[in-house]
Amino acid sequence: MITVTLIPVLNDNYAYLLQGDNGEVGVVDPGEAGPVIDYLKSKDLKPDIIFVTHHHGDHIGGIPEMQEWHRCKVAGPSKEMGRIDSMDILLDEFSAETFGDETYDVLETPGHTKGHICIHFPESKLLFVGDTLFVMGCGRLFEGTAEQMWESFDKITALPDDTKIYCGHEYTLSNAEFCLKVEPENEKIKARYDEVKGLRAQHKPTVPTSLREEKDTNVFLRAKNAEQFGEFRLIKDRG
Ligand SMILES: [Zn+2]
Repeated sequence: MITVTLIPVLNDNYAYLLQGDNGEVGVVDPGEAGPVIDYLKSKDLKPDIIFVTHHHGDHIGGIPEMQEWHRCKVAGPSKEMGRIDSMDILLDEFSAETFGDETYDVLETPGHTKGHICIHFPESKLLFVGDTLFVMGCGRLFEGTAEQMWESFDKITALPDDTKIYCGHEYTLSNAEFCLKVEPENEKIKARYDEVKGLRAQHKPTVPTSLREEKDTNVFLRAKNAEQFGEFRLIKDRG
């Protein structure tokens, strides 16, 4: 199984350290090098691969400095080739690469950016969603359409409910406030809002989440039940 460690970078971004059973080391979306290198050094680790979900600076900004420190492979979305420097492995929906003795696959999830991907480890049941989905929220539509984002959500919700979801930002408290406004009577949202408030008061992360929890409390995945959304029925995007 793959072990995941969360590394806070920049203001509210998360990078992730992945460790496979075979000792392989990966880093997802290093928006900043310093905290990632410091953490790796403290554990006496060197990265074998950097995974990238999309081309935004707060997800790739740390790569050059990391590469200067220790050269490793970079795997990212084939559709963002040219927007991300020196990728060694181009990923798309036909990819079946291995990391840590596991085969991983890729969901193409346009919406936030045109070429955005989510990286999926089915055996360990992990999904790295970048800025497609957040805990109780979703990414802003910078390059894609609401329809594309909706189709991207469909790909995510087709995965097993116990898939653990790791997103690119800690936006959960304001997202939870928004979900509560949309569905004020939803008991699961109310309970989760309290839980999130507690965690954030102690500066603790709210990531990872699970697909089950998101289906229950993320209004963007619940928009099919939009009859109870009242005045928010027409909202299509936010993040
Ligand atoms: Zn982004």
